[in-house]
Amino acid sequence: MAYQIPRGTQDLLPEKSYQWQALERTLREFCYLYNYDEIRTPVFEHTNVFKRENDSSDMVNKEMYTFQLENSKTSLTIRPEGTAGVVRSFVENKMYANPDLPVKLYYMGPMARHERPQKGRLRIFNQFGIECLGNKSPFTDVETIVLAFSILKALGLNDLKVCLNTLGDDASRAAYRQALQTYFEPYVDTLCSDCKRRYAQNPLRILDCKVDHDKECMKNVPKMKDYLNDESREYFETVCHLLDELEIPYAVDDQLVRGLDYYTHTVFEIVSMNQEMGAQSTVLAGGRYDHLIPYFGGPEQMSGIGWALGMERLLIALEAEGITLEEKPGLDAYLMCLDESARMYAFKILTQLRAYGYRCDMDMLQRSFKAQFKAVDRSHAKFALIIGEDERKNHLITIKNIEKKTQESISQDQLIEYLDHYFVDEDHH
Ligand code: ATP
Ligand code: MG
Repeated sequence: MAYQIPRGTQDLLPEKSYQWQALERTLREFCYLYNYDEIRTPVFEHTNVFKRENDSSDMVNKEMYTFQLENSKTSLTIRPEGTAGVVRSFVENKMYANPDLPVKLYYMGPMARHERPQKGRLRIFNQFGIECLGNKSPFTDVETIVLAFSILKALGLNDLKVCLNTLGDDASRAAYRQALQTYFEPYVDTLCSDCKRRYAQNPLRILDCKVDHDKECMKNVPKMKDYLNDESREYFETVCHLLDELEIPYAVDDQLVRGLDYYTHTVFEIVSMNQEMGAQSTVLAGGRYDHLIPYFGGPEQMSGIGWALGMERLLIALEAEGITLEEKPGLDAYLMCLDESARMYAFKILTQLRAYGYRCDMDMLQRSFKAQFKAVDRSHAKFALIIGEDERKNHLITIKNIEKKTQESISQDQLIEYLDHYFVDEDHH
């Protein structure tokens, strides 16, 4: 029987790993700059961490990998997103008592959702996300958007669109919800089966439907902005004003409601406008949540805001714009061992080079001179160190500069100095 990877999952193969590491490095550097600390929460949580009362989102209702082991009453769910686990941990570890609020956290790692696999849509995918917990200020909202935008810009993306909306506070949303129910009432029968459920449970979700999106009845839907109370409107206006001040380009999108239920006030997405992205063009998404911290047992009124980016989708967007972050770097040196009697001598040199910080490798297959030389080529090494019986006897090394095609014989004691001169003094790294 052949073994195959499950549908909708991927191996990260070694040739791509440098690209991922470069991405992860940039993300960490930006978090360091913005004073965000890393948090790692478990890959599965108790199901009720994700499945909250009255949640109407597809993710919670249809896409979760939930399991229960035999002889166990505990229902566990592999995390479909990062925020819920981070907020659970924030409350459980009483981070809300920190004298310096907000607590600024970032995470990255795999998430699982049972979706129909397609380009940019996987069943196991990786998210990088931030959460800023414990205060509520338009400045904080904007800080998180600036961080998101700066990261994507620094990675080299150009075809970006920042979409912004507000869902207002509870009173505004209740008024809007009522207006949507009144508006959609005559159309309920024409909506998809999910939207029929959404109509009763959370009509805002209808605006996010990918099936009903282009239907006639979607054209004149009431707009959230007409139902905002003064406080909510002012909050959103300040967010927009601050973005203007910082010259962050954005577009207000009345229909943006986001795929998760817990959002209040500011919500946003960053979309890649590149043609090749197809339907899966949202790279990053997030928003403010007023109720999640109290829901998990934290202080009433304590708010948070966060976003997450899909790392696979981000790499697709980079590729679409012709950007490669990093490829596998060449070796500093490759050791060719031409005689078995010299292997121990060569092996010691290899170990010494590594101790001095040189990235190197050595033939372990007793291959011919020609075959070993091809390996040097493939390794993109700067130097080939040729070691045979003569070299061993006389404590020498034949060193060949691949680019310059020059070759000389040096004593073993000179090797590190020789390489330091090339790499450190002349800065060939
Ligand atoms: P979509 O509308 O594409 O289903 P979503 O609203 O479910 O997205 P979020 O839960 O906000 O997405 O997740 C944030 C980001 O994570 C998305 O913008 C996307 O980049 C990425 N993402 C979400 N689901 C998947 C998936 N199944 N495969 C790959 N990336 C995903
Ligand atoms: Mg989704």
